[in-house]
Amino acid sequence: MADCIFCMIINGDIPSTKVYEDEYVYAFRDINPQAPVHVLVVPKVHIACTADIDESNSVYVAKAYEAIAKIAKAEGLDAGYRVICNCGDDAGQTVKHLHFHILGGVKMTEKMV
Ligand code: 5GP
Ligand code: ZN
Repeated sequence: MADCIFCMIINGDIPSTKVYEDEYVYAFRDINPQAPVHVLVVPKVHIACTADIDESNSVYVAKAYEAIAKIAKAEGLDAGYRVICNCGDDAGQTVKHLHFHILGGVKMTEKMV
């Protein structure tokens, strides 16, 4: 999508600090980290949010979670980490390209669930 910043990051049109990449996903450090480790994992196709996941694109979600496991190990998050995926305005999604936040490196106390 032409006006999507995460599509531009995937294409290299906007610089990012790459953490991991494969055929399905691209992962990079969040520009405004909320924890010592804050990585964003995004599918290499434009899916707006979880509401648009279906059988035609769910392989990207499975591959994102495979990547999350690899990245968490590589980042040394052996004590645990949180994966967050915001969908829509009520959840506070600001970039309308599906992404998974990996947050770790600190003991988290506040939680919704
Ligand atoms: P959301 O609120 O949509 O779940 O999360 C979007 C995330 O993208 C935010 O944590 C924000 O800091 C991050 N972000 C927005 N623009 C950029 C950017 O240009 N580069 C990087 N690395 N992260 C970004
Ligand atoms: Zn996009």
